Amino acid sequence: MNKPVKLYVVVPCYNEEAVLAETSKRMSELFGFMSAGSLITDDSRIVFVDDGSKDKTWSMIDDLTKQSSVFAGIKLAHNAGHQNAVFGGLMTVMDDCDCAISIDADLQDDINVIPEMVKDFAEGYDVVYGVRNKRSTDTFFKRTTAEGFYKIMRALGVDLVFNHADFRLLSHRALKALSQYPERNMFLRGMVPTLGFRSTCVYYDRAERFAGESKYPLKKMLSFAFDGITSFSISPIRFISGLGAAACVIAIAMAVYTIVCKFTGHTDSGWASLMLSIWFVGGVQLLSLGLIGEYIGKMYKEVKRRPRYIIEAYINNSEEEKEEKD
Ligand code: UDP
Ligand code: MG
Repeated sequence: MNKPVKLYVVVPCYNEEAVLAETSKRMSELFGFMSAGSLITDDSRIVFVDDGSKDKTWSMIDDLTKQSSVFAGIKLAHNAGHQNAVFGGLMTVMDDCDCAISIDADLQDDINVIPEMVKDFAEGYDVVYGVRNKRSTDTFFKRTTAEGFYKIMRALGVDLVFNHADFRLLSHRALKALSQYPERNMFLRGMVPTLGFRSTCVYYDRAERFAGESKYPLKKMLSFAFDGITSFSISPIRFISGLGAAACVIAIAMAVYTIVCKFTGHTDSGWASLMLSIWFVGGVQLLSLGLIGEYIGKMYKEVKRRPRYIIEAYINNSEEEKEEKD
């Protein structure tokens, strides 16, 4: 039997007064059950992160922390957005726990797979992704746009876990590694796979939000998707270079065509030079833009200052000790 794990569950909350009572009740029941089964320690915590809510969310969290020591609260100074709230919460609790799970406040993700995640952690996995089995509870629109998004991201070369959102377990050392990502455009579900480490998935059926409204209206969803693409891929820039190259090829074909037309006498005066310059100049411009874009793309990767490598283990047999470094 493994020794109990010190688990922190991080729950971002933005105007969630309608769900907090139920969420905290169900989660603390689960915690009671898990600590009775010696899966987690008694000092494990459920941490609510108030992301600058305008309603009673923070005072409710405050009350919860007074009711029971299993609850903890973090208050962000202003609405930083879902990704930043999750990241901020994880970074704050990082050094207090063996592993942390992030989960939305609305119970759409099935908390009953949390014990399974913890067991996987105890078996040596550093990252456990919660993956939705099916999206039957989502609207047709949400389902198609979301699945389309995963496919586009994959096609652009971004390593994403299909149908995984922000319900995941991260070990202490995975969190440590994540803390080395200094970028401002947070897209956690793209960042975590780049950590490496041993990972696995647990599967669950996604439920409907049981109270309150989605905090992700279409506008936020689109900007999130756009952020995801532009934070992880410079393919759109490459696309411009491709267009430029194609226009240059067309320019050459046009050159041949116009010269043939000119000498067979089917042209108005000025037409040949006009046609040639339109395609040629257009092609050169697009190519140049693409080239400049390449440099901007490189700079963009540089300014992110991501760690170039993350050491998973350090074995130094000569000194007869085995160390683990992040
Ligand atoms: N959330 C947040 N800050 C925001 C928007 C949302 O912390 O600016 C939280 C929200 O309280 C919830 C989670 O992020 O716990 C996911 O939001 P929601 O369930 O509304 O998104 P959906 O499931 O509709 O995509
Ligand atoms: Mg939700």
